[in-house]
Amino acid sequence: MGATQKTAAIYVRRSAADERDTDDSDNRSHARQERDCQALAERHGLTVVEVYREKVGTSASRFKTNRRPQLERALEDMGTKFRTLIVWAVDRQTRKGLTEVGLMLDRLDEVNGRLITNCGLDSETQGDEFELIYGIKASLARSETEKLAKRVRAGKDEQRIRGEHLGGPQPFGWVRNHDTPYGVSIDYDAASVIVDMIDRLIEGATLAETCRFLNDAGHLTSTGGRWAASAMSQFVRSVHLIGHRRYGGSVATDDDGQPIEVAEPIISQSKFARVDRALVARRLNPADPSKPTKARRKISTSLVGGLLRCGDCGGGMTFHPKTNKSGDTYAYYACLDCKPWHAVNSEVETHVARQALLFVAALEPGSAIADEVGRRMLSTFSPEQATRRSEIEDQLPILQNRMSKFRKENLNGLLDDDEYQRLLDEATMKINAMRGELATLPEVKSDLGILLDLTQASEDPDGDLVGPGSAWAAMEHHLKREILRVLIDEITIERRPKPLDDIEGRTIIAFATEDNVVQLANRPARRRGYSTPNVMAVAAG
Ligand SMILES: [Zn+2]
Repeated sequence: MGATQKTAAIYVRRSAADERDTDDSDNRSHARQERDCQALAERHGLTVVEVYREKVGTSASRFKTNRRPQLERALEDMGTKFRTLIVWAVDRQTRKGLTEVGLMLDRLDEVNGRLITNCGLDSETQGDEFELIYGIKASLARSETEKLAKRVRAGKDEQRIRGEHLGGPQPFGWVRNHDTPYGVSIDYDAASVIVDMIDRLIEGATLAETCRFLNDAGHLTSTGGRWAASAMSQFVRSVHLIGHRRYGGSVATDDDGQPIEVAEPIISQSKFARVDRALVARRLNPADPSKPTKARRKISTSLVGGLLRCGDCGGGMTFHPKTNKSGDTYAYYACLDCKPWHAVNSEVETHVARQALLFVAALEPGSAIADEVGRRMLSTFSPEQATRRSEIEDQLPILQNRMSKFRKENLNGLLDDDEYQRLLDEATMKINAMRGELATLPEVKSDLGILLDLTQASEDPDGDLVGPGSAWAAMEHHLKREILRVLIDEITIERRPKPLDDIEGRTIIAFATEDNVVQLANRPARRRGYSTPNVMAVAAG
């Protein structure tokens, strides 16, 4: 006899890293995790019958054994005591993470159980996709991936025509409702939270203040997580707030090209526009308040730096970004020891990325390399990074306002020119440092669907794996870089007469093996020197 449909249990665990974390220990404490999971249970209409709390010993040696007696108990009880196991997050801290996931998946099958996570995954509603995301092995078996990708794509197109929901959790503010034409309706509790959120932002509260307010009041996101500034900034611009549905880049429209109203608007069009203006206004350039700042300047960093070896001398090749007179940026890798310079265009990055994805697609299920890539991808969702990101996003406008204040004081004669210049330089330096750091921090995503997409090209079935519209192209730089560093041992570049010549023919890629993948993945970020400004001229030829 199985457990009833509506029963659930919660599994929480503090990791060793959480134990060390003193500043923000409450953030991921058992109690916090439990609260989040309880909320998730309520959202799903489940009754929690048991909580499994894994104790992690404080001494390193005890942690090292890495046993999970509570998890084992929970998996054992699944199917008899309860049906759904709610976990706060997948383990990001140990290499055992994926083994653990495999164990869970097997058990789910066996007892017809269900697993839902605080990060928005649900084995029941996401079906194949869930298994794919969690069982990285499946996402990397190429034929299966392609079949699934086609199925997902076909299904999505059909839904798009009907303006229906496209899978994954509903956006905050909506609930699934099969009795309505488009399958969703307003969640009125959430809607009142949204109205409050937007009013606060319009009245001048910062994103972080508003997040703090909602989090403290226990209002979680649709995936049961805490609000973060970057996510909120996107959220308040989501067209579902005015009752529309977005598909890909565009809003679902009817035959006349009018947006389909799939649900009652939560806020008015004018409020929707006002909150956007309020947030944009905070990014105004204080030096000229009538003009918005340029889109965040793209920080040019190398994708395969540290992996390139010169085919002539065997030394490392370094990365040299450059901006020409019309402001276009381009970059070269060069061996500075081989004269005249042995240089190659950064197009080599595209070629290497494409080869790397083909390599991934051909990996055997359960490969150590696949595991390592998966682990790296999961590890990018670190709460520490997320927190840091919100902090910086909050700090930036404050610094910019300060610069604006200095300028006014200077104009009004309250601040002499030298002092003004000094303060300005100081603030500019800080701002640049923060922007640089921001470029290295991942955006917080509640959805691990990128794994599904990794070996899937763009919407165009014949599209390039790494071309425009591909999952790869949409991935953040740091993540691409990390994945390539796991997959590739080194890249040897042979010499050709010109930097742009024969990119494919001159590039020899040594991929990771099952034996060295972990070691490779743990290499220090920079293995062979830095690029220096005085070599910029190199590339001109
Ligand atoms: Zn060389």
